[in-house]
Amino acid sequence: MTQGRGEEPKSGLATCGARREREMFHRVFIGIGSNLGNRRAYYQKALALIAKLPKTRIVKTSSLYESEPLGDAKNWYVNGVIEIETSFSPPQLLHRLQEIELAIGRKRAADTKKWASRKIDLDILLFDNQTVDSRTLKVPHPELHHRRFVLLPLCELAPHLTHPRLGVTITDLLVSLKDDKRVMLLPPHA
Ligand code: ADP
Ligand code: MG
Repeated sequence: MTQGRGEEPKSGLATCGARREREMFHRVFIGIGSNLGNRRAYYQKALALIAKLPKTRIVKTSSLYESEPLGDAKNWYVNGVIEIETSFSPPQLLHRLQEIELAIGRKRAADTKKWASRKIDLDILLFDNQTVDSRTLKVPHPELHHRRFVLLPLCELAPHLTHPRLGVTITDLLVSLKDDKRVMLLPPHA
């Protein structure tokens, strides 16, 4: 058999290399929240920085919601969820998101209380169908199914998606949710 230019038969090694280069993309949902300062601006800044990450693209973004804070915090949150595709692993993605939180000016002092006010909070809600249970990372996010401000925007993007641990859809979780914190849809240009 004759081979034209550039059509040399591939060696086993080259084929193997090509396979390694073909990256595996994961479907990931990220929860975004801000309750300090110009909340919408911080939210949009987070979107812009996530869009700039290597090996990652934003697939869908939810509407924005305004939600009553948890714990002692007084300021209401701006919340939403995005769907991304990424070839980062779960810990790599967490690291990248924490870098973005810091770049936007989130303070992570050792004495910072849980639910303290923050310019930006980025949580990995779901990562394919995977479950992760390490000291620094829990996926699905352990509070996802208790929070209306997460389930409402998530339901906009993926109503039929099944929670990997609970085995029920996001819609079912929302319908049976008992969370009396208020969550309101924000008009697009308020
Ligand atoms: P919260 O989002 O619950 O208010 P923080 O944003 O302060 O709390 O995060 C505290 C720690 O939670 C982080 O340092 C991170 O290691 C850990 N963590 C565990 N699972 C997740 C997850 N799925 N997404 C983001 N952070 C997580
Ligand atoms: Mg967080």
